[in-house]
Amino acid sequence: MDRRDFLKTAAGSACLLSMSNLRLGFEHGNTGTVPVAFFPEEAWAETPEVLHEASYYKKLEHKEVQCLLCPRKCMVGDQERGYCGVRENRLGTYYTLVYNRPCTARPDPIEKKPFYHFHPRTLAYSLATAGCNMNCKYCQNWEISQVRPEQVRNFLLTAPDCARRARDLDCVSIAYTYTEPVIYWEYMYDIAAEARKAEIKNVMISAGFVEEKPLRDLLPLMDAVKIDLKAFSDKYYREVCGGRLEPVLEALKIIREAGVWLEIVYLVLPTLNDSPDEIRALSAWIRKELGPDVPIHFSRFHPTYLMKKLPPTPVDTLERLKKIAQTEGLRYVYIGNVPGHPGESTLCPECGARLIHRTGYNVRLEALQGDTCKQCGLKIPGVWSSP
Ligand code: SF4
Repeated sequence: MDRRDFLKTAAGSACLLSMSNLRLGFEHGNTGTVPVAFFPEEAWAETPEVLHEASYYKKLEHKEVQCLLCPRKCMVGDQERGYCGVRENRLGTYYTLVYNRPCTARPDPIEKKPFYHFHPRTLAYSLATAGCNMNCKYCQNWEISQVRPEQVRNFLLTAPDCARRARDLDCVSIAYTYTEPVIYWEYMYDIAAEARKAEIKNVMISAGFVEEKPLRDLLPLMDAVKIDLKAFSDKYYREVCGGRLEPVLEALKIIREAGVWLEIVYLVLPTLNDSPDEIRALSAWIRKELGPDVPIHFSRFHPTYLMKKLPPTPVDTLERLKKIAQTEGLRYVYIGNVPGHPGESTLCPECGARLIHRTGYNVRLEALQGDTCKQCGLKIPGVWSSP
């Protein structure tokens, strides 16, 4: 049993114990606590509402299938699951096990995702299912990302109900977040279509480890995407995250070409992905391939999961990396996870006026008027207009 399996088993036992008497759950958000009907999962987890055929796979001989959703392209035998633990082969048909089956749904400030150039000061109804197609050793949400769906507490939430709840809670957008939304692609797609009908925006928070076809099929329904770029090194991707860099860079280019609003987060791990040369190369790549106006957030790491011995990122490291990225020509560079730091605010790259003042989730519009700097008239890239 490897560490991932051990964690799954341990987390599963704890969660299953706590599930036995559940009948009513709650969404927690900054608009208060909202009751959600909880039914015992055994009553619905195997119904057609949840057991949904996967959209991207091919059937092979001897009832084997190959998943075509992410670059792992798992080969999955009958009665087995892919790496992410949420897709199962049953007699040669491949199913997602997390359709209509989130483990988290609650309103969050959009700045928490973080999006800094997308409808500031609004709420995003934030949704996740169990599972992930990577295994980052510092994952903040490992209790839900590194387990199987039956090992967490889930509730039944259909796509139309999700759009209705977002509207009832005054959320401007629905955010697919916390774990990796690519692994619940079918559910995300159907919710996004319902949200569009209800004039609610869709934002995806992803590591971008996804095949080209499902990404391109999804983007017409997305209003914004935030990509967690883990490093600018394939070695780091393989050793720390269990992924690969190249497919993520491709995904970034596809998102940008599609004209969907894009922001990038780079979590800085001391000694592992914080070298000035790496940040210089990364910034030059972003400027050349994506353009200088894509915001990048250098975020502070806090010890967690399998990386408890590494210290938090020193703030002066973040400040140094921000300067390097600006010197390389990136125009909107932020410091994240340091509440109150001036690097959270948006400054006009032309005249230096403070456009948006942020202190944690307290956000005040200052020199931004519509999409323009009041002081010098520069048009500021982003999605600012009222929904
Ligand atoms: S989505 Fe899951 S099953 Fe499909 S290739 Fe990726 S890890 Fe494997």
